[in-house]
Formats: sequence, C-alpha cells, structure tokens
Amino acid sequence: MKSKVVVVGAGPAGMAAAWASAKTGAETLLVERYGFCGGMATTGIVGPILGHYLNENQPAVAGFLKVLIEHLHKIGGCEPWEKAFKKYGIPFDSELLKIAAEQVLLDAGVKFLYHSCLSAVNSENGKVKSIEVVNKNGKMEIEGEIFIDGTGDADIAYFGGFECTKGRPQDGKTESMGSVFKIAGIDEEKLTEDIVREAREKLKQLRQNGELKIYNEGPGGKGSTIRKGERSFNMTRFAGDATNAIELTQAEIELRKEAFKIYEFFKNNVKGFENSYISSFHINAGIRETRQIKGLYTLNEQDVIEGKKADDSIARCTYWIDIHCPLGRTINTHLCCKECETTQYCFMLDRYKDYLPSKSKLHPPENDWFSIAARCLIPEQSKNLLVAGRCISADHKAMGAIRVMATCMATGHAAGVMAAVALKNRCDVNAVPVKQVQDIIISQEGLI
Ligand SMILES: Cc1cc2nc3c(=O)[nH]c(=O)nc-3n(C[C@H](O)[C@H](O)[C@H](O)COP(=O)(O)OP(=O)(O)OC[C@H]3O[C@@H](n4cnc5c(N)ncnc54)[C@H](O)[C@@H]3O)c2cc1C
Repeated sequence: MKSKVVVVGAGPAGMAAAWASAKTGAETLLVERYGFCGGMATTGIVGPILGHYLNENQPAVAGFLKVLIEHLHKIGGCEPWEKAFKKYGIPFDSELLKIAAEQVLLDAGVKFLYHSCLSAVNSENGKVKSIEVVNKNGKMEIEGEIFIDGTGDADIAYFGGFECTKGRPQDGKTESMGSVFKIAGIDEEKLTEDIVREAREKLKQLRQNGELKIYNEGPGGKGSTIRKGERSFNMTRFAGDATNAIELTQAEIELRKEAFKIYEFFKNNVKGFENSYISSFHINAGIRETRQIKGLYTLNEQDVIEGKKADDSIARCTYWIDIHCPLGRTINTHLCCKECETTQYCFMLDRYKDYLPSKSKLHPPENDWFSIAARCLIPEQSKNLLVAGRCISADHKAMGAIRVMATCMATGHAAGVMAAVALKNRCDVNAVPVKQVQDIIISQEGLI
C-alpha cells in the first residue's frame, strides 16, 4: 500500500492530522489498530474534552476541534460549538463521536485502514521509507513520503530508531493509568446534594481503609456521555508502564475489577443507583503517559507556567501541569507535587523534591496560554517523520499539560498541515516554511 502522507493512530491527534493533511491537499491514509476513530475518547471513554478553554469569549483551540464538534452536534452528540467552547470541558457521546469523526475525515478525503497495528518501521538516516503493519492479511508494508506518528506512544519514532524518553528523568516512572467506565440507569433526580455528600463521605472512608483504590469520590458526570441517566466515572489509578504488554495486561484486569467494585458501591449504597448497570467498560485501559520524542525543542515547566510564546507557534495550550501519581497512590495524594501529603515513602519527595512542581505554580498565567512550537513535533534528525498528540517533545511536567484532547487535536492539526506543506515544497519536515504552515492553520480556523 502507498500514500503520500501516512498517519498512524486515529486518536484526537491522528484524526486531526489526517483531516488537516487531506484538507491541505495531500493524499492521506489513516492507519488504526482498532475499527474506529477516537483513541482515548472512544477506547478509553475519557471525557469531557479539555484544553480548548481560554475564557467565555475566546477558545484556545478551534480548527479541527470546531469542525468535529459542529458535526457531532448535528447528529446529537454534543452541544453546538458556540455553547461548547464557552465551557471548561466539552461533554460528548463517545459512541456518536466514532461516526462523526469518520464522516468529517471522509469528507476531507482521508482514506482509512483499520484493524492494522504498526509492528515495524523501515528507516535510514532520519528517513522513514515504509512501515509494516500486522493485520488479517498478515504483514503489510505501507510506503509514504511523510509519516505522522499519532500513536500516543511514539511507536513510529521508537521503532524507527528516533530518540525517545519515558517518564520522569529520575526513575522513568510515568503518570498512572486509569479506567473510565459508564453507569446507566441512574435516577439522577434522586441524587440530591445530601445524597452526594453522604456518598462522598463513605467513599473517602473506603479509600482511607484501603478498600477502594480511588483518587476522588465521584459521583461521575457528563464526560464521555451526555445521555440522561448515564454518567462516566474516572476514579481509579494503576501504576505501570503501558508500553510493556505484561504490565498493560495487569492494568486492564485490575482497573476493570476496581471499576466494578466502585459500581457495586454505588448500586448498593447510593439512592438513585438502585436500577443502575454498567453500560461500558473501557476498551483500552486509560493511558496518560508513555514515550515522548526527543524533538528539535522540548517543552518544559517554565514554558507552561510563564505562558511562553514561540515564533514558530503552531498551537496554544491553556491546560496545566496535572500529574497523576506515578506510583498509582490514591491516599493523601491527589497531584504529584512538592506538597503531596503521602505518609508512605516516596523516592521523589525524599531525593528530588526540588524537581517536583509546586501546587501553586501549575497553570499558565490567567487568561493566557503557552505556545507549542513546530519544533516540538519534529524528532531530532527526522527528514520525513512528524509526531502529534501526547507523545510530542515535552518533559514529564509539560507533558502533564499538553496531553489533554483539545491540545492533542491542535498539535495533530498542525502536523497534518506541516506534512502537506513539506510535500508541496518538496522539503524535509525540519525545513518546512513555518509562516506558510501558520497561515494555513489560521485559514482553517486553527489558533496559533
Ligand atoms: C484515565 C484518563 C482520563 C483522561 N481524562 C481526560 C479528560 O477528561 N479530558 C481530556 O481532554 N483528556 C483526558 N485524558 C487525556 C487524553 O485522553 C489523552 O492524552 C489523549 O487522548 C491523547 O491523544 P493522542 O491522540 O495523542 O493518543 P490516543 O488518544 O492514545 O490515541 C492513539 C491512537 O493510536 C492508536 N494506536 C496506538 N498504537 C498503535 C499502533 N502500534 N498501530 C496502530 N494504531 C495504534 C490507538 O489505538 C489510538 O486510536 C485522560 C487520559 C486518561 C488515561
């Protein structure tokens, strides 16, 4: 198989990249290991979409996100864009997202190859010549001129021999994984403030006793569902390396088990949940952090908290350094920061406290954003590989900010335009005229 631009991974970043590449005139193929789009939005049923919110008058991310939301709204999957962007998070229906995303991408001219998992990369001197996927045909080679890595795990970069890092520098540990699941059949009218308060108290107790491994006390909300009587729950944590299949398998089993225990708690103890049932478990455990590429520029903590701007900005990020305990702890540990109140031994608090971010300095300045530079999407030495989404070049702390879905869509959008511009100009990705890229992103309603 062959395509001018080959995007691997149909998550928030990969969908946006494929859309933007096709929209900018390049023949584009989108390769995905599952049979639908969405990445964590559908396989992990995480939500709401975060990272677009600057203030009530102005979003920080639009472009592909806006097109997707407009289409999703048309089929009943979320609020209209004019209302949606004014909210801190955009709740959506994760089932309808599958069909909305496909339609938007097909309209732009993207070709799809589903059920195909990237297994090897043929690269030489910074140039990816082809990739190999495994699917029901066996092994299949896909040639391309420009490749975009939207796998979240930087699989193309890693298998292609480009330098990657994983987790924090001191011990390589990554943010904990998690499981989102949905409970339906809830009589939400019965969920009064008193009932919720009481449930929270009981849940706190169960956490402190070690009976439930939860980092918050629910009681769910409209995240990846907007349906009446249904809520999505994001309460669990599991420490492990999601690029290690053995640890990922343990995560799947443990997280589902924990999710079911949480459901049983609500069903048996909380008014309104009497007739409830689990309507969805995640398909893939929620993965927050794995590999980052080593790019031409690496985002860092100062970029985030000082709201730094770059001349080659291709996306805005308003989100904050939100690091879920890499040890998977839930008791007295909400965020990983200097002020963490864990009573157990923590190597980082003991030896590297200075490295940890401070609770009071996690956000970009108020009503402001920091730039994501085009250089963060280009692996060092890369001639024709671009990277988008949560695995762009960012250190462990900045990664905690750029990983949310709207921001991943924004970097995906930019990567797609960069790929198409590189093709038009017949240049390597590190020589792409940035002004041209920025003008195209703006013409497609993206914000830089
Ligand atoms: C528990 C949890 C809760 C979260 N909550 C929120 C939230 O409320 N709001 C928010 O905005 N963000 C949230 N996030 C973060 C966000 O979901 C992710 O960071 C974001 O989806 C990353 O987007 P991505 O496109 O880079 O990668 P992903 O969403 O991981 O998508 C990667 C895609 O690539 C595919 N793929 C991977 N490897 C291969 C391969 N080898 N071959 C072929 N295909 C491959 C995958 O199947 C997937 O479709 C949460 C994350 C977790 C884990």
